[in-house]
Amino acid sequence: MALIVQKYGGTSVGTIDRIRNVAARIKRTRDEGNQVVAVVSAMSGVTDKLIGMAKEFGENPAEREMDVLLATGEQQSIALVSMALHEAGVEAVSVTGRQAGILTSGSHTRGRIEDIKPDFMRRSLDEGKALVVAGFQGTTPDGMIHTLGRGGSDLTAIAVAAAVKADICQILTDVDGVYTCDPRIVPNARKLPEISYDEMLELASSGAKVMQSRSVEFAKKYGVVFEVRSSLNDNPGTLVLEEHPAMENVVIRGVSIERSQARVTIIGIPDEPGMSGKILAALGDAEINLDMIVSNIAHDGMARHSFTMHSNDLGRAQAALKPVLAEISPLAKVETEAGIAKLSCVGIGMRSHSGVAATMFRSLGEAGINIGMISTSEIKIAVTVDETRIEDAARAVHDAFQLDKAPA
Ligand code: ADP
Ligand code: ASP
Ligand code: MG
Repeated sequence: MALIVQKYGGTSVGTIDRIRNVAARIKRTRDEGNQVVAVVSAMSGVTDKLIGMAKEFGENPAEREMDVLLATGEQQSIALVSMALHEAGVEAVSVTGRQAGILTSGSHTRGRIEDIKPDFMRRSLDEGKALVVAGFQGTTPDGMIHTLGRGGSDLTAIAVAAAVKADICQILTDVDGVYTCDPRIVPNARKLPEISYDEMLELASSGAKVMQSRSVEFAKKYGVVFEVRSSLNDNPGTLVLEEHPAMENVVIRGVSIERSQARVTIIGIPDEPGMSGKILAALGDAEINLDMIVSNIAHDGMARHSFTMHSNDLGRAQAALKPVLAEISPLAKVETEAGIAKLSCVGIGMRSHSGVAATMFRSLGEAGINIGMISTSEIKIAVTVDETRIEDAARAVHDAFQLDKAPA
């Protein structure tokens, strides 16, 4: 008998019929002799709808109240999935984040899981019940509700799998696994049989929303091997695990895209120690997540810094920079550009193969796509391009590395 954690995303519980399908799958897994802890998301569209309603009362509703509101989406799902299980003759119990013992810290809407006290889950499993746990939520030790960031049910599933020492964690979604690129954008993308934590993390944090990036970080930290597969069929999925030597033979594992990016360039900064620190501190205090950071010295001998961020943060970034630039120099000026997107190539094979950037840049050049900023890490090369060309860019790079073909 195995203990299996199954996570069902929003699309998988998006309609009453699909909820019945989820219940049937949980029942089948149990009938095969396993214990099941299901972690479920809000029905697709519900979280967005709740956010929309909140914004009727202003652009920045109180984050504490946002958490109280957004956590209700997952609570609807756990009750409905449990009812569907009852209808199918399965003893099941819904479990909120608090009942699951998921303890969080950090700020509202961005809670971090600190610990899980699985006593209630253990007891219910011992009683032979199927558990249906609310994803995306936890509580602080003094009972305040936290949500875990968009896509946070993935994190709940991985953390619950670690806490109950599950034998398997399955992320059941609306695609058959992790592909070389989002199959909605690159139709000939290929399903990967396996991918390392580090590659999955780079893809997820560069826009591949198939997994929430923090959940992958957590899985790596606690050694939770998990499988991404479809909730609608039994096709084999993708195993996400620690890298092994054979994985380095593949140069590029996958390509991801991230839209709605913006660039801020600050020109006219005196080329003196401490300037970058002041600028970054101002953006950090405003809780703006910077992605790419490029600095250089212009021909006038002044420094210039460019950053990319989500375009939603552009206004706040400009406001945060105003006072610090006034203090730094009368010549300091901000230029902004919205409507850009980021394309990333990821693969641990890059550590031992050269020429990757050349192939990537050549393919973009041949497709007539201009490269803006460039950033690299040991296993990733990322560029910005005009947002209107991002899908062409993904297809060009995917073709250049022949990612549609299984490696020999
Ligand atoms: P869920 O609701 O189950 O959490 P998501 O919508 O969050 O599902 O994630 C699944 C989606 O991720 C897919 O429908 C697909 O369009 C997208 N996606 C992006 N990149 C990839 C990739 N490399 N492989 C598979 N799916 C991807
Ligand atoms: N319902 C949340 C969201 O839409 C969490 C999740 O689906 O994983 O982001
Ligand atoms: Mg998701």
